[in-house]
Amino acid sequence: MAKIHTTAKKHFILVGNWKMNPDTLEDAKKLFSALSRKAQKTTKVSVVIAPPYPFIGPLSGKSDVISIAAQDVSNEPRGAFTGGVSARQAKAVGATSTIIGHSERRKAGDTDEVIAQKTFEALDAGLRVILCVGEKERDQHAHYLRAIRDQILIVFSKIDKKKASWITIAYEPVWAIGKSYDTAPKPSDIHEMSIYIKKVISEVLGQKPGLKFQVLYGGSVNFENAQAILSDGAVDGLLVGRQSLDPDAFGNMIEYANNL
Ligand code: PEP
Repeated sequence: MAKIHTTAKKHFILVGNWKMNPDTLEDAKKLFSALSRKAQKTTKVSVVIAPPYPFIGPLSGKSDVISIAAQDVSNEPRGAFTGGVSARQAKAVGATSTIIGHSERRKAGDTDEVIAQKTFEALDAGLRVILCVGEKERDQHAHYLRAIRDQILIVFSKIDKKKASWITIAYEPVWAIGKSYDTAPKPSDIHEMSIYIKKVISEVLGQKPGLKFQVLYGGSVNFENAQAILSDGAVDGLLVGRQSLDPDAFGNMIEYANNL
């Protein structure tokens, strides 16, 4: 099973978040096979797909080049939580990682504390974590930096630091998610934020692991802006929403990252 890599060699990670798409298992299987064919030739890219929960089991093990992530997990390990899915259950049906803290889950009520607890549960269950952080808006006094810092530090205060390398941060500015593709920040702004995030993590883990920490960018990425972001954004990869439902667009991103 492909894994999110942690080697020093530049190795990109492309995560596709399908959100609540597609409608049927048949369509999910078709899309997954098309993406798997696109990912087949890659040697330098880890491809991760986050399908809706009901499709995790049927898709897991169907590709030796794509690993499966859950889109979220419960902050509770088990018990009377109707509708919840625990990290252990997601792992039991084939997820090797999970997204946590996506802005759509934060909007639905996940606080920083809940996100920190979800991260703890996921790591405890043996899942890697793609932790989404991002400001709602940018202000001219740069208070948004504080928001990012707080979102990161609360999680790191709750987890076993020995498991920190199982976390990948996805910087997803809320104002750039699900918008028109020219809304995505410039690569230079993403570069700056990636360095800031690594600095914040360095405060907790020390400089060497902090600077090596994997940071992805997500928010209205298409093939056009992906090229500049991967080349100049100082990121380790992308978290892609809508365009991960288009095998050609996502396939082009995989191919581009593989040739960088
Ligand atoms: C997302 O929801 O994580 C995301 C990045 O979506 P989109 O690419 O559609 O903006």
